[in-house]
Amino acid sequence: MLGEILDDLLTSPSTGPCITTFRQFPARPPVFVPLPSSVDPRLAEALRARGISQLYSHQGKAWALIEKGHNVVVVTPTASGKTLCYNLPVLQALLGQPDARVLYLFPTKALAQDQLAELEGIAKALPELRMFTYDGDTPQDARRAVRARANLVLTNPDMLHSGILPHHTKWAVLFQNLRYVVIDELHAYRGVFGSHVANVIRRLRRLCRHYGSAPQFIMASATIANPGELAERIIGEGVEAIAESGAPTGDKLFLCYNPPVVNAELGIRAPYLGEAAKLATRFLSEKIPTIVFAQSRLSTEVLLTAIKTGVADKTGDAGIVRGYRGGYLPTRRRAVEQGLRAGDVLGVVSTNALELGVDIGHLDVAVLAGYPGTIASLWQQSGRAGRRSGASAAVFVATSAPLDQFMVTHPDYLFGASPEHARVNPDNPFILVNHLKCAAFELPFAPSADGDGVEKFGEVDVRPELAALEDEGLLHQAGGRWHWASETYPADHISLRTVTTDNFLVIDTTARDEKQTKRRQIIAEVDWGSAFATIYPKAIYLVESVPYEVQELHFREDEEKVAYVKRVTVDYFTDAISAKGVWILRRLAEREHPAYVAEQGEVLVAEKVVGFKKIKMGTLENVGSGEVELPQQEMQTTSAWVTIAADVLARISRSREELIDGLRAVGYLLHHLAPIFLLCDIRDLGSWLGDTTPAQPGAVVTRESARRRLLEAERFNPTIYLYDSHAGGIGLAERVFDVLPLLFERGRDTLGACPCRFGCPSCVGPVNEVGRRAKATAAALLRELTR
Ligand SMILES: [Zn+2]
Repeated sequence: MLGEILDDLLTSPSTGPCITTFRQFPARPPVFVPLPSSVDPRLAEALRARGISQLYSHQGKAWALIEKGHNVVVVTPTASGKTLCYNLPVLQALLGQPDARVLYLFPTKALAQDQLAELEGIAKALPELRMFTYDGDTPQDARRAVRARANLVLTNPDMLHSGILPHHTKWAVLFQNLRYVVIDELHAYRGVFGSHVANVIRRLRRLCRHYGSAPQFIMASATIANPGELAERIIGEGVEAIAESGAPTGDKLFLCYNPPVVNAELGIRAPYLGEAAKLATRFLSEKIPTIVFAQSRLSTEVLLTAIKTGVADKTGDAGIVRGYRGGYLPTRRRAVEQGLRAGDVLGVVSTNALELGVDIGHLDVAVLAGYPGTIASLWQQSGRAGRRSGASAAVFVATSAPLDQFMVTHPDYLFGASPEHARVNPDNPFILVNHLKCAAFELPFAPSADGDGVEKFGEVDVRPELAALEDEGLLHQAGGRWHWASETYPADHISLRTVTTDNFLVIDTTARDEKQTKRRQIIAEVDWGSAFATIYPKAIYLVESVPYEVQELHFREDEEKVAYVKRVTVDYFTDAISAKGVWILRRLAEREHPAYVAEQGEVLVAEKVVGFKKIKMGTLENVGSGEVELPQQEMQTTSAWVTIAADVLARISRSREELIDGLRAVGYLLHHLAPIFLLCDIRDLGSWLGDTTPAQPGAVVTRESARRRLLEAERFNPTIYLYDSHAGGIGLAERVFDVLPLLFERGRDTLGACPCRFGCPSCVGPVNEVGRRAKATAAALLRELTR
């Protein structure tokens, strides 16, 4: 059946021309090695009872390296038996050394639960194993029992950071006897989160030294360009990488689908969400298990609504398709996972939340609605479809954005590109200082062995940071040691994932009457970072495609963070309109060119949601708008920026209006093309057209007021910013600064090759946003910049 649908897609006159390319990945047989003779006979027996009498070659290699005492990272595809690579040596150690302790870290609680279930399966016959999860869900009265009994603790970095390390005295036995630390889903620890986790591991190793243990690290990761390097950055020690999989795979077809052009002059293509929904509906109507990946929480809901409607029309049962994203309550997510494993749920529309190794069984088709932002994610998402035998398919549906269009028209790049480097910067000053506070709380900083300075944190000499903390009154120096001197409990105020820890509860008030004002029907949670863009008053908030209207949002510091919503019947959803401003704080590097000055340094980015658009479900037409009054959010980060020389601007046009449109177009293009050079996700970068004014506190900014400022300014010095979206920066702005000349060239070539007349979403942005002169002006600007 799958084969027939694919054949039809490739040959039918309506879809065939949209398929720009396809690749066939042939099945691969397994490569086995015998179970090593050093495996404990009891463990070997338990494995045989589960049908495992030999190992895949990568499992055998991991065993050998770990036995020799190496730290190891295993980088093989989904469903290749990665977990056995760490479970085997761990179970062996726990069988042979009754005192040994092991710590497992997973990025989410759900993954820890999955793994506990798998371990329990193996361990039935092995009474020496006492394993427990320890996380935010562990009841207070059970925590003591876990600390006393467990020899294998499954937790997450957040809990290690705030619930275990600060209470190390209660965990003394664990720290004294810690034999292995297992870190699964290592690729999830990149960017800001990864930089935090690297510091948590610095604290962990510091405590282990104190208690006299030196654990070995075993890690597993999805494919990225630099697994060994990332692993070394995270744990601060040498690591051996194992990248060759011995597991079998079935046949797989990968299709690239570019939605048809519906308006050639404006370069408008059919909406990709509609096309992706049509494709998914087709597979699901034939009961082929399908996963659909969307690029945001909002598009997940929009796609889900369309697919549910399509599937209900064809099969009469919309219930076989579910949604899955961050923000859903855990019970809802568990129900979807369980339904997928059991086969009651045939289709799921998800954000990248299902990229991680959550066990959802095997699916036959993956539809990627939009380029997921990185090559690594592309392969990971498409890898969700596929069994060890039998055929599967993945379909990438391109959006109109320049990056998607580049990918869908350059298959050699798409299929040949190395996956991205996962970057972390454990020495990011904001992050480092926060963990120094936690570390000082856990143990005072001691003089270094040579007596000359102070112990290092990781490899960092932290004397200046400690001195600064002393000036703030947080540390107190006595006898060469730095003690925590504050009443506060630092880990409580530091979240590893976002800038603040506050989550908003979304509470449904539909069923409330006078008597039930206290009833709290919580239907979802929204993190602080996305709250203002999703649950502003009058917003339509979708939960598994059911619409709720936000009545009130409580966000002030002294109140509980809550959004009250009511069930409504509407045929539209809302999309936030935000305003922004970027202001220079400090210049760190400069490069001159006859046509421009490029600089790099620190900036202040201010953002604010000012309104929303109402968009009709199905047709995606704009059917109205509204305004909202919300606080401005500010962040310090690093940026590269380019200021174009006045004489160049004057040569290109005498109209500031026209130049602003052209410069915005150049900014759009550069922003969308930069990920190709930086090997990062487009969402890791932000762009802005402003000027070179230094930061002013409290300056309110909108796209329109920024335009007015530029139009009215005495000196016209428009500046294009490309900044790192992570507070403090993770090194992207420096890279942008380095590759700017190449980026300008790529922009010039992309613009030259785009067949549209006045600009389109695939080059400089939609005409109605950038104006009809933008393409020509942008082309002239880029010619000057690359001269
Ligand atoms: Zn174009």
